[in-house]
Amino acid sequence: MKHYDIIVIGTGGGTKLVTPPSKLGYKVAVIEKETPGGTCLNRGCIPSKMLIYPAEIMTLAEHSEKFQIRFPEKPQADFKALIERISKTVDDESASILPAYEKNPNIDYIPGTARFLSNDTISVNGETLTADRIFIAAGARPAAPNIPGLESTPYMTSREALRRTELPKSMIVIGGGFIALELGFAYSAFGSDVTFLVRNRMLKNEDREIADEFERVFSENHRVLLHTDIQKVEYSNNTFLVDVVADGKPLRLESEALLVAAGIRPNTDLLGLENTDVQTDERGYIRVNEYLETSVPNVYALGDILGRYFYRHSVNFEGEFLFRTLYQEKKRSPIEYPPVPHAVFTHPQVAKVGKTEEELIAEKIDYISVKNPYSASATGMARLSDSGFIKLLAEKKTGRVLGAHAIGDEASNVIHLFILLMTMNGTVDDLLRMIYIHPSLPEIARNAARKAKELLQTN
Ligand SMILES: Cc1cc2nc3c(=O)[nH]c(=O)nc-3n(C[C@H](O)[C@H](O)[C@H](O)COP(=O)(O)OP(=O)(O)OC[C@H]3O[C@@H](n4cnc5c(N)ncnc54)[C@H](O)[C@@H]3O)c2cc1C
Repeated sequence: MKHYDIIVIGTGGGTKLVTPPSKLGYKVAVIEKETPGGTCLNRGCIPSKMLIYPAEIMTLAEHSEKFQIRFPEKPQADFKALIERISKTVDDESASILPAYEKNPNIDYIPGTARFLSNDTISVNGETLTADRIFIAAGARPAAPNIPGLESTPYMTSREALRRTELPKSMIVIGGGFIALELGFAYSAFGSDVTFLVRNRMLKNEDREIADEFERVFSENHRVLLHTDIQKVEYSNNTFLVDVVADGKPLRLESEALLVAAGIRPNTDLLGLENTDVQTDERGYIRVNEYLETSVPNVYALGDILGRYFYRHSVNFEGEFLFRTLYQEKKRSPIEYPPVPHAVFTHPQVAKVGKTEEELIAEKIDYISVKNPYSASATGMARLSDSGFIKLLAEKKTGRVLGAHAIGDEASNVIHLFILLMTMNGTVDDLLRMIYIHPSLPEIARNAARKAKELLQTN
């Protein structure tokens, strides 16, 4: 039996508890069942955004005529070469993790699946390990909905879709969340004929006005079926056959590829938690308190496996919090999340920080809401923006910004102005104190703040 100061399960956000404590002299064992780097690097954020940026270029090229730019021929993507470049980049990045660990005498990297044998003992590859502290950062994986016939077909999840080197002529996407939309958008931009099947609405957790605008704009350029009930999936003669009832009407759809991105499940089932007192919720996610402690002393959990936030930036925040409080400050303090933002990297982009209008209504908060379109700005004129807006929600009494939402070009960048502002508890007045570069996208945020200021003064 080998004893460590720290055992980390998973090399996504868990890595925040590997090298930093090792540099302080702690002995760390890190266990990983796949290639190092976790979902984000190997099959998530990085490869998807490497695919989406060229997809955005294709989309801009497709709409270039409005800028008096005509290409002699339709732009063509070398999809195979693109996917090979992406895969090589992420594989090289992943392969660079191990040599760095091997050089560090305080880190033992153990490839294999970790299973708890008891509250404080872990087994991996037949070896038994204990530690003063164990950090579970084992993440989540795609889960398929329960659709008759689906399991016996060669459907793709995001994992396969990011490695497929052959562009299918047609693809059906099941799901209306960010992964379904981002990957469906990319495949469509490269020339696949994509149909989106969405159970209810797209981006159902976004502010309603943002989701409405997204559905409106996205549906102009893509085939989208909302309120669908998928009856059955079959696969014959290299073709997927999907029977669906869409808005009450039965339809049979056919496609060369099928992407299922309609949910994820936590990797708790692989951890042998039944041998421990670590508690999980009804969906299988690990329960933690405000210190990210599980129900077992000295066993912590972070990241997707908590079922709280599903972003690389949130697990990084949690990992850095644990490192700081446990190994630098050595003080037990509760985690306080600043507003957790996110973005959807489609065309148009969507980004959010803070509350939605629906949440403010449910919480009975007295608020004002303003929207400012991209078109009403100098940069919007240059870009010929005919859709998209920034929506700002502020507390009526104080002008404190409670939520900000953007839909349109570079929304994921524009939103950062509000992320900083909200993290600093800022107000509409704060937004109006600085000088904005003219013409720039953040001026759209400033124009929204001007409207909000007017409204606050008249209320
Ligand atoms: C297609 C896609 C696109 C995404 N895009 C974005 C984005 O743009 N921005 C963003 O913020 N987030 C994005 N995400 C989400 C993001 O990838 C995750 O939220 C993040 O990676 C979670 O980190 P984690 O450390 O909790 O888990 P993971 O990164 O999943 O790491 C967990 C690791 O634990 C390993 N593991 C599991 N069980 C065991 C075991 N028993 N023993 C040993 N090892 C084990 C797994 O192999 C895995 O490597 C995307 C996800 C997908 C799928």
